[in-house]
Amino acid sequence: MKKKNDLICCRLKRLPNSVLVEAAQTATRINPVNHPRMDGLAGLMPGFRPSPQRIAVMTTSYWGAVGVKLTVGFLDNPPADLRKHILLHMNAWDKQANVQFVPGDTDPQVRISRVGGTDGGYWSYVGTEILHTPKAEATMNLEEFTMETPESEFHRVVRHETGHTLGFPHEHMRRALVEKIDRQKAIVYFKRQDNWDEQETINQVLTPIEEAAIRGTIADPNSIMCYQIPGEITTDGEPIVGGLDIDKSDYTFAGQIYPKQATPVAKKPVAKKK
Ligand SMILES: [Zn+2]
Repeated sequence: MKKKNDLICCRLKRLPNSVLVEAAQTATRINPVNHPRMDGLAGLMPGFRPSPQRIAVMTTSYWGAVGVKLTVGFLDNPPADLRKHILLHMNAWDKQANVQFVPGDTDPQVRISRVGGTDGGYWSYVGTEILHTPKAEATMNLEEFTMETPESEFHRVVRHETGHTLGFPHEHMRRALVEKIDRQKAIVYFKRQDNWDEQETINQVLTPIEEAAIRGTIADPNSIMCYQIPGEITTDGEPIVGGLDIDKSDYTFAGQIYPKQATPVAKKPVAKKK
């Protein structure tokens, strides 16, 4: 059972297999960079002919390089101050990136629920995948978030889940970090903490993301996209600290994926010194 002081772990939401190929096509249409680099793969495995399903699994879900502007709605009618506060933290990503989340009541693209139970916890679909979720269902869940929730949790959780909505995967799924986790201990730990069965823990924590899907950054254990992995389940007993807020490398990465356009400023021509 979850104790009061335990941090809830994020569970990455994945689309059902039946729509994966279609969703991958959408992702590649929105941003061609999402398509895995086939030249690299063919070089590693001569004669390799990947199936559409295999390509889909390796396709990332970033939005277009022109930037992200998404409408946000709430499924359970939370008070205005809470809506505003969640949006404020979602928009923290705009510091160095061209990212904007705006309220929208009609067919919002990002739909937030706060449910508990079997579908509870903190989760989000990744990037353009949200376009392939049923319109009446949430794309992000922030279980029991209220204005009484500590501010630190808005930083840790809302910004993290928003990172997924922007297309960012889990940093702790990077091979270098996954290799630090003790498999058996992790399975026992997440069963106890989050009631995940073995397969869920394997999917969420023990399976590194495909190297082909990585955009060339180094694994950053302090990234907001890395969750806390306690020392009791790592092989060297040292915790993976995890990010509590968007860090410098997160901002830089977001800025690379969604660069802010240079705003043309009308300048008076400066007279040259003679
Ligand atoms: Zn997550």
